Amino acid sequence: MQFISTRGQVPPVSFSTAVAQGLAPDAGLYLPETLPDLKPFLKEWEGLSYAELCEAFFSIFATDIDPAELKTIVAKSYTKFDHADIAPIVKLSEELYVLELFHGPTLAFKDFALQLLGNLYEAQIARTGKPISVLGATSGDTGAAAIHGLLGKEGVTTFILYPDGRISPLQERQMTCTGASNVFPLAIKGSFDDAQAAMKTVFEDQEFAAEVGLSAVNSINLARILAQCVYYLSAFFRLPADVRENVTFVVPTGNFGNVLAGWLVQRMGLPIKGFRVATNQNDILHRLFQTEVYKLDAVAPSLAPSMDIQVASNFERFLYYAEGSDPAKVREIIQTFKDTGEYIFEELKAEGFSSSRTDDAEIATIIQRVYEQYGYIADPHTACGFAPMADSGPEIVLSTAHPAKFPDTIQEAIGQDSTHPSLEALKQREIVKHAVEPTPEAIKAFMRAHIVR
Ligand SMILES: *Cc1c(COP(=O)(O)O)cnc(C)c1O
Repeated sequence: MQFISTRGQVPPVSFSTAVAQGLAPDAGLYLPETLPDLKPFLKEWEGLSYAELCEAFFSIFATDIDPAELKTIVAKSYTKFDHADIAPIVKLSEELYVLELFHGPTLAFKDFALQLLGNLYEAQIARTGKPISVLGATSGDTGAAAIHGLLGKEGVTTFILYPDGRISPLQERQMTCTGASNVFPLAIKGSFDDAQAAMKTVFEDQEFAAEVGLSAVNSINLARILAQCVYYLSAFFRLPADVRENVTFVVPTGNFGNVLAGWLVQRMGLPIKGFRVATNQNDILHRLFQTEVYKLDAVAPSLAPSMDIQVASNFERFLYYAEGSDPAKVREIIQTFKDTGEYIFEELKAEGFSSSRTDDAEIATIIQRVYEQYGYIADPHTACGFAPMADSGPEIVLSTAHPAKFPDTIQEAIGQDSTHPSLEALKQREIVKHAVEPTPEAIKAFMRAHIVR
């Protein structure tokens, strides 16, 4: 299988190249050249364990990796999860399910992709002998999950930009208390979007990218999207047979990566009924689905900080298909949006999508209501997925983080402590972080000075 760029200005590449580069050299995002039809496999896959399912799914895409090696890579990637099902389903009522995606080492769904990505990188470095520098920008959970996926991997130096003071103290500890010598958390003054913009400019400098072996771990990396596809398959198989084709997947959304993964699996033939894009008060995607206008707004820090995003980078992948797989049209839309801060669609082809918006006051009320009604503690991101919807039919809410990552919000909402042993252990450790200006020059200089050779 080969992979193409959404912007269509570079030749197709192999799986390993797409993973190593992250962002395509034309600043587009990689997608499979054709989407496979999964229907013939569904029966056979139904009884597989999570890791087996992941291996079977990836073997369709990662055709340039030896099957035995792929098996090892995948098997290693799900050993640090603390639940035997990896992505367990909790039934709250006949009409309401939760898909818990927080049983990985950093207690957020991003571990599903980043544990795997770390092992893909390691295998690749072993094959090529070429070291990699990873640069990422995080609104909290990506950075922690990336750092824990890449900790101690031979040949990888990791640099993670994050908005200083705008991520939760525990998220910061997960990134800064590792004691690892190949990991550099970079605290910048500004928002997540500032961090992401600076990072994108660094990636556009192709000479620098080649010099340091630059790779991206943000959700622009195709391997992350594919890894996230697997839990939609797993959830589908683990739901009762009479529910699975009638259930809407509700996805707390920021960068549109998680929900895009589900939508791709649906396009590959998994009979998912539909998706609800659940945003917080940073609602560019909710406004888009309601008004067909994609319009930039300021980022307002919220109780669900990992969704404090306005420019949803993975939306470009959706656009590619929605606009008839036409890279020229994608380039035009992205350019117009970049120049004017908005794009008005004539007709957005988004069948199967609904959306909701939840502000901070509602997040607190929802956490309280869900706890009273079901005895279930939802983290503030997951709470956005529990926003009440009229006539929704059965829903499965993707729980994207463990509540213990946001103890203050939980305490305020239900008057209870939410703790987790792995987070308690971090409180004893020393914080190591570096202040860097959010400019491409400053970031490049810091990287050149700190790459572990
Ligand atoms: C990253 C994150 C999200 C948003 O996911 P996207 O793929 O960016 O839409 C939601 N909740 C939590 C807890 C996250 O870490």
